[in-house]
Amino acid sequence: GRKERIRERREKRREEVSLLRAIPYSDQHIWWSSNTIAAVTGANRGIGFEIAHQLASHGLTVILTSRGTADGEGAVKILREKGLSVVFHQLDITDESSVRAFARWVLERYGGIDILVNNAGVNFNTGSSNSIEFAEEVIATNYFGTKNMIEAMIPLMRPSDSGARIINVSSRLGRLNGRRNRIGNVDLRKKLEDEDLLSEEVIEQTLNSFLQQVKDGSWKDGGGWPQVFTDYSLSKLAICCYTRARAKKKTKMKRGEEIYMNCYCPGWVKTGMTGWAGHTSPEEGADTGVWLALLPVDRCTSGKFFAERREISF
Ligand code: NDP
Repeated sequence: GRKERIRERREKRREEVSLLRAIPYSDQHIWWSSNTIAAVTGANRGIGFEIAHQLASHGLTVILTSRGTADGEGAVKILREKGLSVVFHQLDITDESSVRAFARWVLERYGGIDILVNNAGVNFNTGSSNSIEFAEEVIATNYFGTKNMIEAMIPLMRPSDSGARIINVSSRLGRLNGRRNRIGNVDLRKKLEDEDLLSEEVIEQTLNSFLQQVKDGSWKDGGGWPQVFTDYSLSKLAICCYTRARAKKKTKMKRGEEIYMNCYCPGWVKTGMTGWAGHTSPEEGADTGVWLALLPVDRCTSGKFFAERREISF
């Protein structure tokens, strides 16, 4: 049936990507060096750790950040023992003073960064459960934390011929009109789909009205919210929309000061977040993010959504 075909297509694409991953980057392709600085949030474990690992393996200098100092330092030790150029800095994306301290340190130590991977995120749903008990925290972390990081770091993205890059780890669960998940309210969906109507205000009004409905208990019959993992899916939908809206503002920058910002879905990955369920390894889950970070500048786009090294629709 249909499910079977989708599964086959997915398997085929995963095989293709695994072949692509085996091809080393050629000298002509490589625009980066050990002076290229990439920062990764939530990199002490899971997909974030793998993104840090792969970027450092390609020869960049990686700032591995995590909210817990001991966890982050442990992760850095593993990568340094492999001879990789990785440094640690504490960073809790929901803590404004932590974000400020990180930005200050980055400026003093490197004068800025070239690549930012916003990977940190939380999800309290597993299996078929749909709990909104932690909705505030999920949206505060996945949306507002990520947005605050972007806003704090944009002034610190170093201008270069290759352009700076921001990669936001999102999810297919946050699609506007996905197969499993959609915004049921057609007017709202249209607003979020429409390039001209979409704005940060629209995104944040949407999140606030969801959180209000969580408070007064009406969210289930209220807004036609995403059906699966509602709070988490909505937080990722917001990040996708924000990526589109924010990238639009950036297109006017002159060449050499370009910031390419995109988001991607890592697939269903065996990490703590999924209770080690899922189709793919953290190595594969990191792949599209690393690929976006290292694209040659003439292939860079902005404000798009990717999975398995291909653009997908929002
Ligand atoms: P994990 O739970 O293994 O890792 C999440 C990471 O985010 C941890 O390092 C965690 O730190 C960190 N984190 C959480 N809150 C904060 C915060 N406030 N400040 C800084 N770091 C924080 O999950 P994954 O590796 O699977 O997830 C990584 C990203 O991929 C997330 O954004 C997730 O939503 C996304 N994703 C994952 C999918 C999957 O199937 N696994 C599917 C689609 C998207 P700590 O160790 O301290 O808790």
